Amino acid sequence: MADFRCTHCGATGLQTGFVMDSGQYSQGFANWVEGALERGVFGGAKLSGRPRWEIDAYRCPRCFHLELFAGRPA
Ligand SMILES: [Zn+2]
Repeated sequence: MADFRCTHCGATGLQTGFVMDSGQYSQGFANWVEGALERGVFGGAKLSGRPRWEIDAYRCPRCFHLELFAGRPA
């Protein structure tokens, strides 16, 4: 559990988790990518040269709001 409060309702005891990505070629978790989304010719996101960060997602037990933090380089 994380020791901070939900920014939506103020509850404590947020549950640690992450945002899953079950796409065929994914590593199983989503990353945060710096810069606005741009799509390539096949519709996929252009990622070359973009910094990526792993996402920690904390779930509020009262209102189910997600607090997202991207603090580790992916
Ligand atoms: Zn909450």
